[in-house]
Amino acid sequence: MTLAQRPHHVLPGTIWLVGAGPGDPELLTRKAERLIGEASVIFYDALVGPGILELAGKGARLVYVGKRSGRHSRDQAGISALLVEAARAGERVVRLKGGDPAIFGRAAEELAEARAAGIACHICPGITAASAAAASLGASLTLRGLARQLSFVTAHARAGEELALDWQRLADAEATLAVYMGKAAAGTVAGQLLGAGMDGATPVAIVENASLPEERIITTRLDLLAITARAALGDGPALLLIGNALRQNDIAPAQGRPATCNTDHPA
Ligand code: SAH
Repeated sequence: MTLAQRPHHVLPGTIWLVGAGPGDPELLTRKAERLIGEASVIFYDALVGPGILELAGKGARLVYVGKRSGRHSRDQAGISALLVEAARAGERVVRLKGGDPAIFGRAAEELAEARAAGIACHICPGITAASAAAASLGASLTLRGLARQLSFVTAHARAGEELALDWQRLADAEATLAVYMGKAAAGTVAGQLLGAGMDGATPVAIVENASLPEERIITTRLDLLAITARAALGDGPALLLIGNALRQNDIAPAQGRPATCNTDHPA
């Protein structure tokens, strides 16, 4: 399909998986904003902020299908079924997801369910949390000669399962690691990376509520991550960025958003 042939609107009976970005409505794409306005029904996640839902058209139905860890209001199969049901009923369906739908966003399940039902389903990308966190830090996720690789990993394990990541491969001094859903597992992540030989002095930034008014930035180092995360985190979504690209001296948090805690240089 060429770009010109690609669909651009939320037609009746179709589904769009739309990236809502990290929270700040200004970090929505123009396309996302238009699609949100076209929807007759919007199924949205916990991480989609109120400023974004205000962009819905008059008369659009807003349906919360959020999942916060440990508190699943609806399971994934249930959400996919709801989308298909709405599209079958001729609705213009938008499934609004935090960040980018294709990054830890369960987009695959929803695409597969729609395709199996013969319903057209498209993706509108969004700014992912790692990009927003880096922007707030005033840092680059990649760095010439220092961080040639960037890995997005999730530290969320299924209930009762251990976190099965290839720690040897991730403990790479020349890579940046963006850890999604890593708040509860921050101690495990640090322990495993240190155990795999990563330097304890490797810089770490924790960015909570990136791009939102409640944003908090905490800078620390790998060997202090467990204790810092335990002591300093609230209940907003938080992203861990680990790697030499985040060297303290290079990081100047955006104005008005000072680092709330810096374990390298205690006050
Ligand atoms: N699709 C989303 C990720 C969903 S997984 C994206 O591309 O960003 C949910 C995790 O994303 C959270 O646990 C947190 O680690 C991260 N996250 C989402 N929004 C965030 C924000 N505003 N600030 C910090 N982390 C965020």
